[in-house]
Amino acid sequence: MRQRKDAGQLTRRSADARRELAARLREGGSESAALDARLLVEGVVGERDPDPFRILSGSEEARLEVFARRRLKGEPVWRILGEREFWGLPFRLSAATLEPRPDTEAVVDAVLERLPERRQAPLSVLDLGTGTGCLLIAVLSEFPQATGLGIDLSQEACATAQGNAALNGLSDRAQFRQGSWTEGLDRRFDLILSNPPYIRSGDIETLDISVREHDPRLALDGGDDGLAPYRVFARRLPEVLAPGGLVVLEIGAGQEADVVSLMREGGFDWRGSRRDLGGHPRALVFALC
Ligand code: GLN
Repeated sequence: MRQRKDAGQLTRRSADARRELAARLREGGSESAALDARLLVEGVVGERDPDPFRILSGSEEARLEVFARRRLKGEPVWRILGEREFWGLPFRLSAATLEPRPDTEAVVDAVLERLPERRQAPLSVLDLGTGTGCLLIAVLSEFPQATGLGIDLSQEACATAQGNAALNGLSDRAQFRQGSWTEGLDRRFDLILSNPPYIRSGDIETLDISVREHDPRLALDGGDDGLAPYRVFARRLPEVLAPGGLVVLEIGAGQEADVVSLMREGGFDWRGSRRDLGGHPRALVFALC
């Protein structure tokens, strides 16, 4: 329902803006039009579940129009909003970071399942390829005495992760630095996490546009067979894992057997896997034999 505010200018209630945007996105081919419209309207008004009768201001309408056009061009809604929730915590995104995915929460679930008796321990945590820092920050939020280091090849990702630690009140326990995997590390960690790039280089072009064009290639590309990072882990992680420590790695579809065998070659014992929301093995747990 449109109302006339002043001459020539139409104003809309948030509920109408949302409904009209959903119809427009649906027409544009979005399969999640209703959800997208809700999130984008919430994004411009800056609150969840806004009053349906709240009238959008001119600047909110202008921002919503920009958001609508970006969404219609295939940009994912969370990129447009610049923020995505992971483990119930907010994470800012940047061009250098992957969007945190709900399936990645399986890594945090696996950690909690394996270390229930160490919740109050001063664990040291290493997150390789930290991106937004979501894995390290989620784990630190669950282990109040733990401290951690996140490493990423991208300096910009490290800056984003640092900002996310501050956003979640964890700056005093989380550090970030630019680097290549474990290079230059001269200490050991009780818990090592990674959600590395694991897509085969040749498969990237077949991914959905929301991933292919909006997630950074560096965060996706796992080399010819998608397993390049796990080869590095099998070789290097024994040097930086503390006695009794655990490694929890995210994998892509169908990679469980290959990653288990690579890690075994590096001297690791496979302690089991945790499935994701779709029922696929997603987080693999290893310890040194
Ligand atoms: N660790 C980050 C995440 O889980 C980044 C992963 C990546 O860039 N491959 O989202």
